[in-house]
Amino acid sequence: MKSEKKYNTSNWIGVCFLVLVLIFTLSGVFLLIHIKNNLRKSILGNLKKDTQIISMEIDKYLCRYGELVAQMLTNDAIVSFVKENESSETIASSPDYKKVKATLERIKSTSNNIALAWLGMKELNCLATNEGIWVPDYDYDMETRPWYIEMNQSNRKVTYTQPYIDGITGKFTLSIVSPIYEHGRLAGSVGIDIHMEELISFIDSYSIGLKGFPILISSNDTIIYHPNMSLEALMKIEELGGKIKKTDSKFLGESPEFYEYIENNTEYYLFYNSMASNDWRIAAIIPKSEINAQMNQLNTMRIIIFGSFTTILIIIAIMFRLSNNFKELNELYEKLGIKEKELLENNKKIFSAYEQLANSEEKFKIQYATIQDYTEKIEDLKQKYDIAIKGTNSGVWEYEVSGRNFYLSEDFKNALGITEKNGKDYNSLLNELLAENERKKLENEIARFMSGGREEIYCQVNLKNSFNRIQCILIRGRGIFDGNNGLKLVSGIILDITKIKEQEKYIEYIAYYDPLTNLPNRIKFIEALEKEVNDSQPGAIMFLDLDDFKRINDTMGHSCGDKILQKVAESLLNIERGRLLVSRFGGDEFLILIKREENINEIENYAKKIIEVFKDNIMIEEYDAHVNCSIGITLYPFDSIDVNKLIMNADVAMYKAKDLAGSNYVFFNNKMADKLKEKIKIEKLLRDALKENGFTLLYQPQVSTLTGNILGFEALLRLKAHEISPIHFIPLAEEIGIIIEIGRWVTKEVVKQLKTRKEKGGELKPIAINFSAQQLHDSGYIEFLKALLEKEKISGEYLSIEITESIFLDKKDETITFLHKLKDLGIKIALDDFGVGYSSLSYLTFLPVDKIKLDKTLNDKFLIMDDIMVISSIISLAHSLSLEVIAEGIESIEQYLRLKEAGCDCIQGYLFSKPLDIESIDRIYNDNLVQKLQKNIKFCKEEQL
Ligand code: C2E
Ligand code: CA
Ligand code: CA
Repeated sequence: MKSEKKYNTSNWIGVCFLVLVLIFTLSGVFLLIHIKNNLRKSILGNLKKDTQIISMEIDKYLCRYGELVAQMLTNDAIVSFVKENESSETIASSPDYKKVKATLERIKSTSNNIALAWLGMKELNCLATNEGIWVPDYDYDMETRPWYIEMNQSNRKVTYTQPYIDGITGKFTLSIVSPIYEHGRLAGSVGIDIHMEELISFIDSYSIGLKGFPILISSNDTIIYHPNMSLEALMKIEELGGKIKKTDSKFLGESPEFYEYIENNTEYYLFYNSMASNDWRIAAIIPKSEINAQMNQLNTMRIIIFGSFTTILIIIAIMFRLSNNFKELNELYEKLGIKEKELLENNKKIFSAYEQLANSEEKFKIQYATIQDYTEKIEDLKQKYDIAIKGTNSGVWEYEVSGRNFYLSEDFKNALGITEKNGKDYNSLLNELLAENERKKLENEIARFMSGGREEIYCQVNLKNSFNRIQCILIRGRGIFDGNNGLKLVSGIILDITKIKEQEKYIEYIAYYDPLTNLPNRIKFIEALEKEVNDSQPGAIMFLDLDDFKRINDTMGHSCGDKILQKVAESLLNIERGRLLVSRFGGDEFLILIKREENINEIENYAKKIIEVFKDNIMIEEYDAHVNCSIGITLYPFDSIDVNKLIMNADVAMYKAKDLAGSNYVFFNNKMADKLKEKIKIEKLLRDALKENGFTLLYQPQVSTLTGNILGFEALLRLKAHEISPIHFIPLAEEIGIIIEIGRWVTKEVVKQLKTRKEKGGELKPIAINFSAQQLHDSGYIEFLKALLEKEKISGEYLSIEITESIFLDKKDETITFLHKLKDLGIKIALDDFGVGYSSLSYLTFLPVDKIKLDKTLNDKFLIMDDIMVISSIISLAHSLSLEVIAEGIESIEQYLRLKEAGCDCIQGYLFSKPLDIESIDRIYNDNLVQKLQKNIKFCKEEQL
């Protein structure tokens, strides 16, 4: 019943919808008709309006000129002049014409568009114009002129003639004229000629609709303006190929002004509008397609509206049907829901029963898995046990106390070579395997265990004869007790520990011996020395170092080097075993301890014997090497009783021996100790200086020989609080490996000074930094320098780096790459100390250097009168390679003058200035040092300088 009611209600809703749709459709149709009418009206209206506006504008334009002509008629002077009958020859000079001419000129001047203002005199057959009197050379009959005829036809006061091409100006012209009568007869006329271009371009600026255009048609149907027609053509519409017919378009309806017009196969609508000022007409022309397009849009709209309505209608109908079906479905679904609920209840019951079953099954499964797990573990253990027993060369043994039965696992029995025969008898087994003492050792251990003295049997024994290389075994065992705490069984393992024993021995050996030479090593040596010193025994130690061993390794290879070391060791051992303890200290260094010897001559004899060893060449494979050695000797307790100090003493003395040529020995003395102390002191000073800002820089000017001005400076390092020369501390800094850090400090300090100078303003002069060979290993230096220059905003061109030839001794290619990287930063490279050492001139051809610094020794040697040529040729050579030349260490005026003469570019030396601190440099920064020198040294002739 309930659903029946619902059904009826929805029927009603459907009907309402239908009515609504009907109303919408009807109003849509009505709206469309309305829109169509409006559209028509608006198209027609627009067309009319456009034409009317154009006509009005043209009227306005023409009236302006018509007005001028009308004004001429009211001018008495003009009118009476026209009627004048004076002869055409004299008229030009008459005062009346002058007056009239002035008036005509004024009229002409009112517009650029006026070509001529004129008066026509019938009787005299001439025209009086603003330009002069024009007498035609033919009979000029006014009454036959087209304008006159037109004027007569139109009965207008002012006539606009048909435009024409003016015979004189050749331009498209329009005349506007008015007649003057006397006693009812035509006496003459007044008029102006105007250029048509303005009017034409004026019409041209109008368009009709989107693609339409206006046409101007004169009173005799000649086209004056048509956008597709040239001005001179002046055709009628038919001549142009146009065709006009009355429209029968339904759309345009009852609109008599509208025509259809075809031109060049295009169809247009045409609408005429007459003009007020004359009998011309404007025709507005618009392509049919343009209007049809608008109509088509309307049609499309119509289709869309109808389409939408129909679609909506169909959708509503479908929805209506569907909603009814849904309702029936809904009822069915509700019934189904009740059934489903019942089913669910039943399911739940079944499920809980099933769960109970599953739980019991799960328990069984877990129990089963645990059992399985145990079984697997047991199997696993068994396998591991087997592997362990086999892998470790071990066996299992058991001893049954009551039955005195002994059992040993088969594998191990086999390994020991025990046969079945004696295998069961415990005593004979021990007898066969172990010597008397070893057997006793084992029996004691077992007895101690049995008596309760030990918890475990643990005993290592050596076998009498090694079998299968087994030499040493470890026996371990524990007791198993019965219920009354009585020992029931002893069981354990037997382990083959032969290898472990061997390894133990080797490790012990390695700790104290050098595996290459088999000599005791430094630890063994120090232990022995300590023992001797502690026992207050006198003796000596020798520190022996092979000379140039690096070269041997490099040239002959390391394996040859190793063999030489072995041969040397052998020879040293052969000198006198027992008294001498020869040890290898490391690398190519040996330490020899001469025990219990006080006699210095004896000690010296040993040294001589050792040197004898090195007299002969050492033969290694195909090589025949000669090796020298240097030996430093120190005596104990005489020199020291401190072991480390003794070794150091011998080391120092050895270095002294190295200074001598060939194999040599040197005894340590206290002077050496002083030097060592000094070295240690300076080492500490340097390390402290780095930490506590203890360094400073002095700057020595470099003076131009050309101008006498300072070109730049060399930065020279000093220890602030100590008068130690860099000649001493720089090599030490290199030796102890802190030169890299010092080098960075110097670079930083120099860049800082450049920055300070830059901030003060004025010219910036380059500063040279000394660069030690070891600084090449400062792999981050280039990056460091680059970042520093960027941070302080200093260009690299204000830095130069001084290197010495020694820098190229090893890793030449890497060094050249490094220098190129510096040069990429704009930094100049100077080759320092030129003339000391190798000074191969050929170096200069491939090294990336910008300048060379002639060393003081070179200058001192060759700047004397006879030898100046040497310096001269070095300078010319350098110049030919585009290198700048700086002479260093110049102390005398003579040296300066000769260098200047030889073309040297720059001078550095005490002559001009010692290295100065930065404040002193500030004072002389811009001085001319040559002029200063001139003033100081009175006896020096000025022109020489
Ligand atoms: P060098 O690079 O050849 O420096 C020139 C040395 O000659 C300087 O000695 C300078 O004071 C000295 N000298 C200059 N003009 C004259 C002169 O007319 N007569 C005499 N007798 N000597 C003059 P200094 O400052 O003692 O430096 C010695 C060396 O220490 C330098 O020789 C350079 O190799 C090294 N050195 C100095 N500063 C540094 C540094 O910052 N880094 C590195 N790596 N080495 C440096
Ligand atoms: Ca230098
Ligand atoms: Ca130098």
